[in-house]
Order: sequence, then C-alpha cells, then structure tokens
Amino acid sequence: MQLLDGKIVSQAVKDSLKEKVLALKQQQKRAPHLAAILVGSNGASETYVASKIKNCEEIGFDSTLVRFDTDVEEEILLKKIEELNNDDSIDGILVQLPLPKHIQESKIINLINPDKDVDGFHPVSTGKMVLGLPSFIPATPYGIMLMLEHYKIETSGKHAVVIGRSNIVGRPISILLSQDGKYGNCTVTVCHSRTKNLKEICLQADIIVAALGKPGFLKADMVKENAVVIDVGITRVKDDSKKAGFSIKGDVDFDEVAPTCSYITPVPGGVGLMTIAALLKNTLYAYSSKGN
Ligand code: NAP
Repeated sequence: MQLLDGKIVSQAVKDSLKEKVLALKQQQKRAPHLAAILVGSNGASETYVASKIKNCEEIGFDSTLVRFDTDVEEEILLKKIEELNNDDSIDGILVQLPLPKHIQESKIINLINPDKDVDGFHPVSTGKMVLGLPSFIPATPYGIMLMLEHYKIETSGKHAVVIGRSNIVGRPISILLSQDGKYGNCTVTVCHSRTKNLKEICLQADIIVAALGKPGFLKADMVKENAVVIDVGITRVKDDSKKAGFSIKGDVDFDEVAPTCSYITPVPGGVGLMTIAALLKNTLYAYSSKGN
C-alpha cells in the first residue's frame, strides 16, 4: 500500500505557484488576489477560511477576508459580491459554505462573476466542466485529479465508484473521471443514499471515491484487493483525548482498508490539503485569464 500524501503533493503545487508569483513580481506585476467571504463563526468554516488565507500568504498571493455576522441580510451579502465583482484588483471570490438558513446559497453563488468563480460552483463553470471546456473546476475534485496525476495513477478503462452525488464533490469528480483525457476515461458508477447493493458495487471498483460524510463508512469487506481509495470525508468526531475536543475522521476505515488497497489517502493529510492547493491554482487561472 502506498499513501497518497496530500502534504507532499499540495506542497509541490504551492512551490510551483510561488515561483510563478515571484516571476510576476520580478516583472513589476501585481500578485493574484483572492477575496473570501465568511458569514458567522462556525468552527469548521473559520478553520477552512483561515487556512485558505494563510496559504495565499505563504505563496505570495494577496488576500482579503470579508466577515459578516450570522444574521447579515441577504441583500447586504449580494451588494458585497457585486462590489467584489466590479473591483478589478480582485481575481477570485469565494463564499465559504454553508451559509445561514435565511440566505439562499444559490442566489449568492449565481451572482459571483463566472470569471472570478474560483470555487467552480457557478452554473457557468459547471456547464463548461461538463462540456470539457477550460473552466474553474470545483477545488476538491480538482485536487483529487491533481493527486492522481502526481502519482501517475492509471485510470483509463478502470471502474471508478463514487459514493456521494453532491454538486461540490461526488457529481463533479464522476464527470472528471469519465472525461476523455489523461486521468479520465474511467467507467464511473455514482452511488448515493438510495443505491442498492452498495457493497457489491464497491467490490467491483478499481478506484473508490468516498464522499458521503459518514466517518469510517467504507470497510475492508467493501474494497477489492489493490483498489485505489480516495477518502474525501471530513467529520469532526468528539474526542476528549484531543485538546480541541474532537478529531477529524474520514469516510474510510483507514486501519481496516489500508492493508488491502494499492493506494489510499489519509485523513487528515490527504484530499483536504489538495482542495486548498486546487483553489490556489484556480485563483491563478482567474488572474491569468484576464490577460495579466
Ligand atoms: P453532502 O452534500 O452531504 O452529500 C453526501 C452524499 O452522500 C449525498 O449524495 C448522499 O446521498 C450520499 N450518502 C449519504 N449517506 C449515504 C450512504 N449511506 N450510502 C451511499 N451514499 C450516501 O456532502 P458533501 O458536501 O459532498 O461532503 C461529503 C464529505 O466530504 C463530508 O464529510 C464533507 O465534510 C467532506 N468534504 C471534504 C472536502 C475536502 O476538502 N476534503 C471538501 C468538501 C467536502 P443523497 O444524495 O441520496 O442524499
């Protein structure tokens, strides 16, 4: 079994981005600039946004964090997005999800200028991705693809089983894996909560992407020998032995599954780190697409 190490791969991506920023600065050009909007003070969202900003700083990107209280009116949020859309110094805009219940997420996402949609959640980005056109790819599936590429994992003709069909992970990764191209060309089965015989389907998989948000769900008896296992799950599980009071668990029972598979991503230290690396790549793409 070989570990698909998110630390190593994300660092390689970030090193290459850092070099590109240095080259831009040598040409007296400005750095790419990411604006992140955070509503409320959800612990996990705070951590994700802080990490995104920190990673921007590490590689020399500019970043702006815009914070709102949980009870912010939708109208105010929409105005802020318009302002960022019209600000030429901002290349990428992300709104940390989930948003409070009184705000319609789709309304917010759909207002982001598709040219600044670095999370790749806008319908224009989704449409382009489905058609195989150059576009922003949602950061988590993009990060998974970068990982497959880094480790040169053969995907052509393989059977990939994706557990989960969300718009941010399951659905886009199923599209990317089935596309005609390098690290695509899989035959993909998408599973969800209504899928029957999930265990039998998983046992046919050469590649499994677990993205359902149920800690330790994928057990060894669901995984074919030498399969590639990508664990997307991130769930905070109460753990009194930790200072924070919780530990982070993936959707795969790592201890059980790791000995039977060929490659596996750890949690933490796997797909989560790749998600941030992919977001940074999307931000550079937004910057470069403007002809900078
Ligand atoms: P989501 O929107 O809640 O979607 C979960 C999907 O899993 C749904 O399609 C659901 O089916 C399916 N599902 C639930 N229980 C199932 C079961 N028993 N058998 C088969 N399918 C089942 O979640 P998400 O946003 O995609 O996130 C999934 C996990 O990835 C979460 O742990 C999340 O925290 C994590 N995540 C990690 C990253 C990262 O950077 N690593 C990024 C995003 C998300 P239905 O459609 O039928 O309800």
